[in-house]
Amino acid sequence: MKLVFATNNLNKLAEVQKMLPSSIELLSLKDINCFDEIEETETTLQGNAKLKADYITNKFGFNCFADDTGLEVESLNGKPGVYSARFAGEPSNSENNMQKLLTDLSNKTNRKAQFRTAVALNINDDNFLFEGICKGEILTKKHGEKGFGYDPIFKPKGYNLSFAEMSSEEKNKISHRGIAIEKLVNFLSNYKI
Ligand code: IMP
Repeated sequence: MKLVFATNNLNKLAEVQKMLPSSIELLSLKDINCFDEIEETETTLQGNAKLKADYITNKFGFNCFADDTGLEVESLNGKPGVYSARFAGEPSNSENNMQKLLTDLSNKTNRKAQFRTAVALNINDDNFLFEGICKGEILTKKHGEKGFGYDPIFKPKGYNLSFAEMSSEEKNKISHRGIAIEKLVNFLSNYKI
């Protein structure tokens, strides 16, 4: 069965393909000649994930899944959440986003935060949602060079390293996206076509 992952990130694609049974052939947006800019206009992560998966299924007719991730900070009432990519304005810039978050938290003692990933799957006229959460805290300055986005200032609970100080394998095992994708993979591995 062909299944589109609504992403242009080939690393993400290869990572997920490795976890799937060989009966499922994963395709990227490029593989189906989709070069459209799909605007994330919904106000929830689930809504944006579903919007992207629906766009592909409706326009190209493929079974498809899409993900959307946000960082939810407790003392900021869950912000930046669904607006994590554009927290410091457009165009999206990780350095500016981290600086804004550090400034917004400078007078807060509660630095608890969590990453949340929503995955929406359209398969044979059915829709499913999966979710992964990784709890942790926002550090007071950047640590590490790896990863992307807010990784240098996020320390997962129970670890003494930021995400940016972990290998991608270490991070994937405990990350929001890793957990959501694992749920998707388990579902697909047991799915009867
Ligand atoms: P997306 O939905 O995967 O595009 O993520 C939205 C935004 O959340 C990104 O632009 C990043 O700033 C941030 N983000 C998502 N996943 C991660 C992560 O694993 N580590 C750090 N930041 C992330």
